This record gives sequence, structure tokens and C-alpha cells, in this order.
Amino acid sequence: MSISLVPARMVWFCPNCSLEWSYPVKYCTNCRKETGKKDSSRYVVVGFTQISIPSPKNETVPYYVVLLEGDSGGRILKKTFKEPRLGDEFREVLSGGRTLVSVSRVKYDISGSVAKVLNLLGDVKINETQKVLIKPNLSFPANASSGVVTNPLVVEGVIEYLLSNGARREDILVGDSCAIGFDMNSILRKSGLGEVCERMGVEFIDLEECGTVLREIEISGEKFRIEFADEVFKRDLIVNLPVVKTHFQAGVSLALKNMKGCAKSQSKKYMHRFGLQKAIAYMNLLLPKYVTVADGTVGLEGFGPSVLGRPADLGLIFAGKDPVALDLTVCRLLGLESTEYMRLASRIGVGNGDLDSVSVVGEEYQAVTRRLERPAQEFSPTERIRVIDGNGCSGCSNNLWVALSRLPKDTGSLEAEVVFGSYFGPDRLDSLKLKFAVGDCAIVRMREIGLEGQGISGCPPETEAILRRLSEWYFHRRGHVAGTWSTNSLLRHPL
Ligand code: SF4
Ligand SMILES: [Zn+2]
Repeated sequence: MSISLVPARMVWFCPNCSLEWSYPVKYCTNCRKETGKKDSSRYVVVGFTQISIPSPKNETVPYYVVLLEGDSGGRILKKTFKEPRLGDEFREVLSGGRTLVSVSRVKYDISGSVAKVLNLLGDVKINETQKVLIKPNLSFPANASSGVVTNPLVVEGVIEYLLSNGARREDILVGDSCAIGFDMNSILRKSGLGEVCERMGVEFIDLEECGTVLREIEISGEKFRIEFADEVFKRDLIVNLPVVKTHFQAGVSLALKNMKGCAKSQSKKYMHRFGLQKAIAYMNLLLPKYVTVADGTVGLEGFGPSVLGRPADLGLIFAGKDPVALDLTVCRLLGLESTEYMRLASRIGVGNGDLDSVSVVGEEYQAVTRRLERPAQEFSPTERIRVIDGNGCSGCSNNLWVALSRLPKDTGSLEAEVVFGSYFGPDRLDSLKLKFAVGDCAIVRMREIGLEGQGISGCPPETEAILRRLSEWYFHRRGHVAGTWSTNSLLRHPL
């Protein structure tokens, strides 16, 4: 992978007296005139210092902080691992590869970073006749800074960028569908995205409510068919806005995975049954091309993609026109393992999986590397309960794991098995243990294979219903009275 330095940094300037600031200033401190924003094109090193003590987000030392002076006298600071000399010029070096992944450290100005990463891609064409779909991640109800949903300020930055590059407000649509069993209105309210769309005068559409388009493909003799929201195929430009997060089923959720929100709910269920890794890769072959702006302002680590993950303050934004190159690059930068669906997507031609031919532009590679905690395979707080995933979808898995996280931590020998989804046989279950089937799929499957147990019905069942049933058993066996313990002490950020 070749690395480049790009000096371009947004500065705020006074059109009246030519003062400049490297942080947002709305009115000139000298003449009170409203400021403007611009990029400087050329910077020279006028000072630097070496930092040898690590700090959060700057774990690798030594590095240098250089003071750069732009063409018009404005000064900015930049982190670098290359030893600078006074008078050095900072200029763009796009070496080698054709595929670009751009990255920006977010300091004061999210919309400035969004504009920077998109400008660095160079050829994102926008005009006044194009109909645009912005596709954030709105899977679960969560706050803007939780790392679970796309930060609304990133969405706002993309809308501003599109408008300032010629798109018409009425041609911009923001749209997504939520995980099965959740309510889009509460997600829009909780995340603050509904308010952003209203303020920006841009329409929001729930893709689950759109018409349907069927697309199918046959790969290696295997048929794969998906129903998508028809709106996805009516737009000239799609801007995909995933959150950078870990995902206990998929491994990582980035550009390729985020497009699953374009599929209708029946197809989302089908994708899990089909095998999620393969389905994500195949689905991307059926979708129109898209540009990705990945929101790493606050990402999610550990047991993502929902509230059981831990918010990770990354302060980064990425962009790319090739989702495979982007996903693999971000994984490498953040110390995450690439996933099977990324490698498969590369093999079937969704994008470029050869990182040696990918150029990372915008920041130095080392200046943006971080280490995210990978997702654990299980989150069961007690050894007395084992969970069996029968390729269930996000609705059941999320509600079950949240319910389990609310049980007290405990050790002991295995007493019960909890199964969800429908792809499991008797061989995966222990006939001597008590069984709970979570969700209608698992109940039907248990009947099919002739096993007895307790069903918790729903598609998906509510977290509270799962918790109630499990705790009745759990505390009854322990001689406690159900409901006398805290229900949310283990939640890191409440729903
Ligand atoms: S019961 Fe659960 S696993 Fe089955 S379709 Fe509904 S949410 Fe998905
Ligand atoms: Zn002024």
C-alpha cells in the first residue's frame, strides 16, 4: 500500500482583513465580518517539535507535530512520522496505485473533513440533474455519539457537500431501513437524524416502506435472490455512510455490510439463512455502484454492532469509491481481521482486494492507525447458559444478547441452551439440557426436529420477554424471586 501526504486543510478566513484561523471562527475577531472556509494548496514547515510521550490516539512515539504555513500566511498543525526540516514543503504524493482510499483526522470541523475526503477522491461527479440517495446506518435506536448509528453531523456534512457542488436540495434523499423488530421513528428521534433532515430541508425515506425490486444471480451453480427497495435503483448517485464498527456475526461492519439496509426485511432474514458472509458479497454484486464515506468519528469496538459494543473515539473519516478496498484498508488501519465476505467480494469482482495497489491519501498511515477490540464470539455472562446461533437475523440476536447481558455474571456448569434462528440440527444441541427457543424461527425448527423446550415467541421477541422467561428459570433455580435485581446495570449506554 502506498501512502501519501496531503497538505490540504480547511482554514477559516476573513475576506475583509485576510486573517486566517485553523479552527472554526464564525465572525472575524478583528472586523466582525462573517468568515469563509477554504483549502490552502501549499504549505511550508516553519516549526516542529518531537513528541516522545504517548497519549490516547497517539500511542506510537516518537512522532512530530509540525507548524505549517500556507500560501496566504495561515498556519496549521499536522502530525507526521517523517522527520521534518524547516522549509520543507508539504505536497500531495499519489504514488502508484489506481484505487484510492482517503482519510481525514477530524479536529474541529466534521463537514470540513467530509469535504476533504470526498475532494481527495477527485472524480465524484455531482450535478443539478442527479438524484442522490444518502444511505446512513440506522439499524438500532441509539444516540448520535454511541458509535451504533451514523453521526448525523456526518450526514449533514455530506448534504452540505452535495449542495455546494451543484446538487439540488429536492433531489437529495436520505434513506435506510432498521433492524427487524425496531421502529424507524424512534431511531430518527434518538439519533437526531430526523432533526438534521428537517433543518437541511431534505426528505427522509424508510427503505422498508418503498416498492420492491427483485434481483437475482447464480454463482457456482447456486442461486441467490434479493428484494431491494426500488428507490435504490432510481438514484443516479448513492453515498453510503456506514459507521466503523465491529459486528459479532459479520466480524466488521463497514461499506459492504452497510448496504444490507437496502434489502427488504424478508430478504434480510433470507441473507442470514443463506449464510451472512456469502450473502453480503453477492448482494453487493447486485447493487448499483456507490461512493462510501465511512463515519469513524466515534466507532464501535468489542461486541458490536449494537449497544453491547463500546464506543471508540477514533476521530477519523474515510472515503472510497471501491468498497472492498475501503473495507480492507480500514480493517488494516484499525487492527481488525478482514472478513470472509470482503475476500469473497474481491474474488467475485465487487472491488479491488489487492492492498498493494491501493493508495491511502489524506493522512500518513501511521498517524491514523488505531487498535480496535475485536468482537468476542459470545456475550453470555453465565457459564450455565450456552447460546446456539442458527443463522438468526439481527432482530433475535440483538434482543437475546441484550437480555443475556442483563443477567448477573455467574459461573457454574452448563444447564440450559438458548437457540435462535432456524439453521441447526439435533447434533448441535445437548439432549440432556433444558432448551429455550428464542423467536418464531427457532420454535418452528425445534418442532420440526422433534425436540422439547420452552419457546419465547415473536419475530423477534422483545428483549423484556426474553429476559422475563430466562430470569424466571434462572432465579427460580437459585431460590430468588424474579425481578428483584437491576435490569440495566450491565448496559453501557441505554437504549
Ligand atoms: S424469528 Fe428472529 S431469526 Fe427468525 S426471522 Fe424473526 S427476527 Fe429473524
Ligand atoms: Zn476581518
